[in-house]
Amino acid sequence: MSGSGHEKPQGPVWFSIREAAEYLDIGEPTIYRWMRDGKINVRKVGDSTRFLQEDLDAVIKLIPADKNVNVVREFCAVCHGTELVEGDVRSTGLIYFKPKKTKFWTLKDSLIPITSRMCTRCGHVSITGDTAKLNALRTPEPDAAAGGGKG
Ligand SMILES: [Zn+2]
Repeated sequence: MSGSGHEKPQGPVWFSIREAAEYLDIGEPTIYRWMRDGKINVRKVGDSTRFLQEDLDAVIKLIPADKNVNVVREFCAVCHGTELVEGDVRSTGLIYFKPKKTKFWTLKDSLIPITSRMCTRCGHVSITGDTAKLNALRTPEPDAAAGGGKG
């Protein structure tokens, strides 16, 4: 026989959700939330959800930056590339995001400026709205706030 007893498996090492949670030292619910939010790259092996170590390592890089949205924006959500080119998304002019339920908000101009970045690695284009403008819109008028409640 040719086995030396020291052969390493050549294939990728797969992590189950539980193993990934242990590797990252977090709870499994966090893994599920990241999967739902698209923060972690998910592989399917048959019917099983698996992760590669590179997927987990990529998330580790994002964890410390999670509290800083400006930093997170600099990562490609698809391939985690860091070289993003900023630009405008154009039709015949600039495109704005318009929230649907603005009638319960203020009646100010509800067009929210957006910025866009394209990943130089995979071509993923991300669009980010101006949250300051959005939250300003959501601030209820004093009169409107009087009659409403939570919900
Ligand atoms: Zn990318």
